[in-house]
Amino acid sequence: MSRTPSSPASGKPRRLLVVEDERSLAATLSDRLVAEGYAVEVSPTGEAALEALAASPFDLVLLDVMLPGMDGFGVCMELRRRGLDLPVLMLTARAEVREKILGLKLGADDYLGKPFDMLELLARVEALLRRRPLASEGLGSHEFGEVKVDLRSATVTLGGQPVSLSTMEYRLLACFLQHKGEVLSREQLLDEVWGYDSSVYSRTVDVHVATLRQKIEASPSRPRFVVTVHRLGYRFDG
Ligand code: CA
Repeated sequence: MSRTPSSPASGKPRRLLVVEDERSLAATLSDRLVAEGYAVEVSPTGEAALEALAASPFDLVLLDVMLPGMDGFGVCMELRRRGLDLPVLMLTARAEVREKILGLKLGADDYLGKPFDMLELLARVEALLRRRPLASEGLGSHEFGEVKVDLRSATVTLGGQPVSLSTMEYRLLACFLQHKGEVLSREQLLDEVWGYDSSVYSRTVDVHVATLRQKIEASPSRPRFVVTVHRLGYRFDG
């Protein structure tokens, strides 16, 4: 598999922040990522991670959930609150789906259960970094109901008030706008929005659709715009 972790614009290696308190795992991860051509910094606590993120720019965060002090959920929430929109891949040892969904709701872009397969982790990192520019960019502005979306400035308002969307919620919405009236399968959405080739976690799509609905639908349980098409996927009726 060929990997091109260098960002095309600068040619500099992509900078990853690994937030992990388990020293041996942090070292294993870091060594492998460096071998793949990434520049890696390790933070052993959530507090240290937030300091590192404030001190210099990173391209992606690998975030363990179970940390001493502030946990991964807290870190994720805080970095989004600070307006950092870099991709966050959460590493969770907790088996409960609920915990994973919580991470996504707090603004993580994806999650991986521990123990994980290193090749799978590398593939996820690559997919998150590769995010293609959306084809819908440059399409201008859209209005549906009380919602206004300006794809040029990437702003979304509801009744004139700004709506704060995570990167993936925004990409999902932009993708829906681009395919207005079409049925989109979870696999298509994973491919277009997340850049995945296969439907590893179609639940990821459902969770993001649910959080997007909460932000743009007047009645999220009876959505008017992002409509579920039974067994097929979703359709945007704007
Ligand atoms: Ca840990």
